[in-house]
Amino acid sequence: MNRTAVVTDPVFAMHDPGPYHPESPARARAIQCRLEADDLRTRLARLAPRAASQAEICRVHTPGYYRRVAATAGHTASLDPDTQTSVDSFRAAELAAGGLLALTEAVVRGEVRNGFALVRPPGHHAERDRAMGFCLFNNVAVAAEHALAALGLARVLILDWDLHHGNGSMHSFWERADVLYASTHQYPYYPGTGAVDEVGAGPGRGFSVNVPLPCGMGDAEYTAIFREIFAPVVAAYRPELILVSAGFDIFDGDPLGGMRVSPQGFAWLTSQVMEMAAVCQGRVVLTLEGGYHVEGQAESVAACLQALLGEPPGPPPPRAGVGQAGPILAAVKRVQGQFWKLG
Ligand SMILES: [Zn+2]
Repeated sequence: MNRTAVVTDPVFAMHDPGPYHPESPARARAIQCRLEADDLRTRLARLAPRAASQAEICRVHTPGYYRRVAATAGHTASLDPDTQTSVDSFRAAELAAGGLLALTEAVVRGEVRNGFALVRPPGHHAERDRAMGFCLFNNVAVAAEHALAALGLARVLILDWDLHHGNGSMHSFWERADVLYASTHQYPYYPGTGAVDEVGAGPGRGFSVNVPLPCGMGDAEYTAIFREIFAPVVAAYRPELILVSAGFDIFDGDPLGGMRVSPQGFAWLTSQVMEMAAVCQGRVVLTLEGGYHVEGQAESVAACLQALLGEPPGPPPPRAGVGQAGPILAAVKRVQGQFWKLG
């Protein structure tokens, strides 16, 4: 089957962290409207989410933490200074994690070519035993563990282009080589992790690849980083699946971020990931993380979906100059050059 799937469900607009919270239900509603605005919706296969089981979630999280989140069902609760629940949040969280599992299964089994889990709440800040930064369960880490434990894969790549560093995802696999975590992020910034020299430990040394960036990076810088750092690392690592923590808070105009990526830029990044996935039969699964310019993130999601569908991403990205990313690229090449052959 040669199709692109999306995971959508009304429940993803039912997790409500409260008035004025940037991670709002309006995000999911805007994405849904954008899918229906032209015939994009009709070109996509829709996959219904399932609830991730406690056992699946507890491959990443402690049973005590799982119970703490489950106990919020039907209530409002504060799990972290930034992370509140509403009555439906636990249901949304188990369907967000499980929706990504269902999509990962469909892609690994070849039922669909690739896809995008349009889920809330996001996940990449959630740590083993605590909520953090708008995240309840670490969806992408749960999916990586599932791919290894239940789907028989040996190596999984998590590529995280969200504005923020995915501390929870990196820490989940810090001492392991079977999941490689690669991230671009604004730095120094929330949550404070993701320095160049954070490379993993023990058998995981070299399997965390951090590209911390100053404000102002746009399409040219991001595509250069993907080309010069991520593409050679992925080619050498040879993952059997690429999971993308797709955050849209690097969109030019995001209220929380200082980056300048355009919707066209997101299409280019998606196409670059698809090229990297030549080593794994094109298995690419995106999952929604942040993105707080409601209309901008919806337009950017649509651009990613068009790229996943194989629709031409427009003219090639500008190759001229990596601008302010030059010194960071050099530093990353120096540190990661111990582990990977980088140009
Ligand atoms: Zn973010």
